[in-house]
Amino acid sequence: SGSDLAAALQRIDGRGYKAYKDIEGRWQMAAQQGGYCLCVDWVQGDPFASPSKCRVVLPAALAALPAQLVCSRTRRTAVCDYLTRSFGAAVAASGGDIRQQSGGWQGEKGGEMSVDKPGQHVLERTSVLILADGSVEARFTVALPARGRSVLGQWASSILLQNLPRYVHQGLQYAQQDRHALQCHVECVEDTQSLRDQLPALGLVSFLGDGSILPRKSGASDEPMAAAEAVPFRSPEALAVTVQLPNRGAVRGLGIRRGITLVVGGGFHGKSTVLEAIECGVYNKIPGDGRELIATDPCAVKIRAEDGRRVESVNISPFLSNLPFGKDTRCFQTPDASGSTSQAANIQEALEVGASTLLIDEDKVASNAMTRDARMLELVSGNREPITPFICKLPPLAALGVSCILVIGGSGQYFDVADTVICMDAYVPSDATAAARAISARHAGTGDRLPRHETYGDITPRTLASVHPRPVSAHGRDLRVKTRTLHCIQLDQEEELDLSAVEQLVEVSQTRAIADALVKLRGALAGRGGPWTGRPLTQVLDALEAEMDERGVDALAGRAKPGNLARPRRFELAAAVNRLRTAQLRQLA
Ligand code: ADP
Ligand code: MG
Repeated sequence: SGSDLAAALQRIDGRGYKAYKDIEGRWQMAAQQGGYCLCVDWVQGDPFASPSKCRVVLPAALAALPAQLVCSRTRRTAVCDYLTRSFGAAVAASGGDIRQQSGGWQGEKGGEMSVDKPGQHVLERTSVLILADGSVEARFTVALPARGRSVLGQWASSILLQNLPRYVHQGLQYAQQDRHALQCHVECVEDTQSLRDQLPALGLVSFLGDGSILPRKSGASDEPMAAAEAVPFRSPEALAVTVQLPNRGAVRGLGIRRGITLVVGGGFHGKSTVLEAIECGVYNKIPGDGRELIATDPCAVKIRAEDGRRVESVNISPFLSNLPFGKDTRCFQTPDASGSTSQAANIQEALEVGASTLLIDEDKVASNAMTRDARMLELVSGNREPITPFICKLPPLAALGVSCILVIGGSGQYFDVADTVICMDAYVPSDATAAARAISARHAGTGDRLPRHETYGDITPRTLASVHPRPVSAHGRDLRVKTRTLHCIQLDQEEELDLSAVEQLVEVSQTRAIADALVKLRGALAGRGGPWTGRPLTQVLDALEAEMDERGVDALAGRAKPGNLARPRRFELAAAVNRLRTAQLRQLA
């Protein structure tokens, strides 16, 4: 019980730090102490190590979530996201238990309690879970306090037995929540999810609701631009669609149809901002984000050039052939791809694992991979140009059922293939399809028509043979994986996996989940003849997703009960594997 924990902390007070191991285990709090169970799952080895991992499990009767809030997966995800924020806020409001620290090696240190901190997106997380019996589990870390290297039992006791019950009460019990805010959070997420689910039936790949605030506060902040500065989004009549949402009712907005859509307009008129909003429309948002009514095909993938990346056994022949020195483009590999080869690999890899919409911004592509004008065609042609410009492949891609949304300010050649042209003018979209068609017709036969491609070419599936060449030892973690930032995973000392071009990764908690998935895959593949050995990469991703559907994001974790993971999409998981320099991928025969 709580008093047993108090006694244990008193007993080890002043002893060597290792004595904290005594408090590992489950402590059932009496009703007047909160009535929850505190699990100290793992105690750090010394005051400088990563903080100790704990959970509280609040029985259903105390969590007291109304049935209507937990009646669907989407609602449960939204509630867990909300409680993560409210638990985190309760901790932060009281300073997270950091004391005035006296500093220095011998001084007092530790005490911080922390809960994973979500951003603007509502994702499946491991920070707060609603268990099958309706109890609520919340995970957090505590830096167990020390003076020098000895236990500060009194302080630990005040954190775990005085402050924590207050955080649990304020942050996790339904009765203490702002019911209106929680209900709004859930309904907002449910509406966005419903919008996304309705896209296929409406023939759309993206929808941007009227009144949405697309621009962000700054390049460093994902929060909305201040209302006084931002021009709210409004669909032109010609492209407007009305959708019924379960909570909000009818909403009007711009519907981007399947097929080829261009976003054109002058520089600085808001084109990239539109595409960025579409990119993260694959995730649900918190109320007030400004993008709650923007939803995109969940299989939409941002494509960009990424010179310097590794490419392993990718068939890039739809875009490149006849490379100098006879380099094979049907099974292309390089430790250092160029702009155009990296872009081709990014496209092929996305299609390989099921992308159904490609998102492309002229600001981020290799211009030689996009188009070629009449004069250049006259000078360099036939076998001397290995690159097939992307524009030639757009109609065959559309025929395969893959849509494309492109931001293009510089080349009107794309008018020839576009189904819809949206023109941005001072952040206001208009329908420029008819005008673009007329221009295209007028210029027909003027010489810069590129050769038509009837078929797209091959997308060759690959298997993941191994994640890391070093054998997996029987015990212990033999591959040290550390998530440094949103876009960087460190593997051992050897490799920094650079994910900076993986733009639809939105939270470092997703990156941590990807890092865990790499370790899991490595283990699974190293055991010869394991279930995934020799399977196409796409089936491995199916299996990971199925496990997450069943067990949540915990399914990716090797360590016990992490509280700081969020669900990544299959495309970002694949992106990590594809960029990993130690991974072995082979084409299926
Ligand atoms: P483009 O890609 O057309 O050159 P951007 O999308 O990069 O333009 O936008 C240029 C600037 O305008 C950015 O600083 C962006 O934050 C701002 N901006 C974009 N959309 C809006 C809007 N709806 N209201 C106010 N500012 C916006
Ligand atoms: Mg731009």
